[in-house]
Amino acid sequence: MPEGLSYRNYRMRPTGKAVFELILRLGLSLTGLAIALFLSGCSRTGQPSEGKSSLQLVRRHANVLLITVDTLRADHLSCYNPRSVPTPHIDGLASRGVRFVQAVAQVPLTTPSHASILTGTYPQVHKVRDIGGFVLDKFVPTLATLAHEAGLETAAFVGAAVLSHHYGLNRGFDTYNDDIGAQRAELPGVVAEIRGDAVTGRALEWLERHQGSNNPSSKNFFLWVHYYDPHFPYDPPLPFKAKYARDLYSGEVAFTDAEVGRLLQWLESHGLSENTLIVLMADHGESLGDHGEFTHGVFLYDATMHIPLIMRGPEIPPGQAVDQQVRSIDVMPTLADFLHMSAGDKVQGRSLLPLLKGQEVATHYSYMETLYPKTSMGWSELRGIRTEQWKMIVAPQPELYQLQEDRLEQQNVKVRYPADADHLEKKIWEVAGPPGSLGKLEQQMVDDKTLRQLQSLGYASAGARRDLRIDMSGPDPKDRVAMLGILEKSAELMTHDRFQAAIPMLKGIQAEDPANPAIYQKLGVCFERLAQYQKAIDVYQTAIKHHAENDQTYASMGNDLIRARKPLEAADALEKAAGMNPTNLQNLTNLASAYLQLGRFVDCEKTLNTILKRDDHYGQAYNILGIRAIRRGDGIAARKYLEKAIECDADLTEPYLSLAFLAEKTGHPQLAISYYKKYLERTPPKEHRDIVTKIKAAIAKLEGRS
Ligand SMILES: [Zn+2]
Repeated sequence: MPEGLSYRNYRMRPTGKAVFELILRLGLSLTGLAIALFLSGCSRTGQPSEGKSSLQLVRRHANVLLITVDTLRADHLSCYNPRSVPTPHIDGLASRGVRFVQAVAQVPLTTPSHASILTGTYPQVHKVRDIGGFVLDKFVPTLATLAHEAGLETAAFVGAAVLSHHYGLNRGFDTYNDDIGAQRAELPGVVAEIRGDAVTGRALEWLERHQGSNNPSSKNFFLWVHYYDPHFPYDPPLPFKAKYARDLYSGEVAFTDAEVGRLLQWLESHGLSENTLIVLMADHGESLGDHGEFTHGVFLYDATMHIPLIMRGPEIPPGQAVDQQVRSIDVMPTLADFLHMSAGDKVQGRSLLPLLKGQEVATHYSYMETLYPKTSMGWSELRGIRTEQWKMIVAPQPELYQLQEDRLEQQNVKVRYPADADHLEKKIWEVAGPPGSLGKLEQQMVDDKTLRQLQSLGYASAGARRDLRIDMSGPDPKDRVAMLGILEKSAELMTHDRFQAAIPMLKGIQAEDPANPAIYQKLGVCFERLAQYQKAIDVYQTAIKHHAENDQTYASMGNDLIRARKPLEAADALEKAAGMNPTNLQNLTNLASAYLQLGRFVDCEKTLNTILKRDDHYGQAYNILGIRAIRRGDGIAARKYLEKAIECDADLTEPYLSLAFLAEKTGHPQLAISYYKKYLERTPPKEHRDIVTKIKAAIAKLEGRS
């Protein structure tokens, strides 16, 4: 911004009502204030004055590359199943290293499972119990903290918001790249995923910079690369999309294999392959219809708990397959052992290196759990234990499977083997704590940006605040399979913008499971996306009646009440949301916007001050302060706040629009053009289709004038 531009003479009339009307008419979100401001100014471009408006030595000088592929079933790799999609690059890794035939995850969900991989501990220790709302325990060492302390260069490139640094998995990494922004516009139905080619690109760029031939002083490294592609929705790029049109999940797997190949090729061509321990694994599988589940998270069957695990590098014998069961929690101590480091006293897994030398390693009991049925649907959570022979699942109706005879887990043999069931159940409570100790789930704060990204991935209740008791209350998930199918089907329809088709399905199951928050949340979103705000409000009110509400219920209802022209009730609902979860600054931001629109300026500023007291780098608060200043007619203050908003939050686009508006109204057309262009560069066109045309027209007009 050039100095000396005058914003001093800019004066505007109070425009609250006009802006408010526009928001109603366009169905804009509460934070769409700048858009409304712009549009209101748009219509009056001819009248600028009336705008609306433990230090350990690494004794081994080697590198570690950890590749985690999200949602990857072992039987969809050709090295595990010759009839699967060809995966030549991963197969190549397996043929030159060790393939663990019976590797299992601890949790069928991305964030908790990765926490187990990185820390070598069960969720009770690392504390990441579910998606959203749980942050990694500060005192548990991770692979990255060990490697960092030992002087390795550490970097991570992750492909989804569920692994955002907010969950604490970034601890110990010198570089932690979880930047979602750039990819936002490209993936249909998803905004919080980074496609594999971008992840590889980022990782290669880092390798080139830190390990390339131009960097003779390069240190050993620990690099973690996470591919999210096989996760639902399945949408591989061409040519995989065309080649696997009838099986897009396999298409995603084939695409990811090609990306893994690109990464491995770089190591090979830079002579780093021989001195790097490469570990490739999944965080969990995908049900693909097994047991009536299509994705993952609700059940503990092998469709989602069995994972591929492959290791290749120094000390790893080539071409071996290990039959003994091993676990996600064994990966961290194995890598620590490889680097000749202690994994610390909290670790619960075992190094697998002795196993590869034919020694006995006790990995025979693998604890597993999922709280997701409870947190998301109000059903009972599940806990289980798996051995090479058995799987025991503790549920309202417990299950026991004899895995060697019944690989698909179809015959519950608990009644036939009561002694084995008792023994295994005891093993579960040894990890989980005695049944009597189960209680209220302690959630932690998630920042609102992360929350929005999680919601865009379909984890709607993630991070939402309500009392959750993990005491096995609620229906047994296996008795709700039909309903789960309908919920997953409706999620798929919603991903493809088919909201009208999803509504009758969801309404059909509402009476059957009236305390299920997921049904109301999905129905609400459908009505909102169809601009049927009163119907969405009715849905949220029904949720409240059945005690299936959380702070997000009130937040969504508040936004819809604004659109349904009930501003007073809206403020009431938004106050409730903010009261229920004051740690969620988005709730407070919504409330401040509502106050601004209602002309309750004192309340608005008070709320913004509360936000800034908690986080003085909260961009959205400065954005609203900027808009408030524009409305006051104070151009100088407005500019200061809006620039501060951008400085604090690089993902915010609205301030550019406000700044453009301000520059235009104060007679700085070139500056206005540059801000409009910056806004367009940063805004996903599909999210703001209606306004993009208008901005382009405004630019053309300004260019003609200047
Ligand atoms: Zn995952």
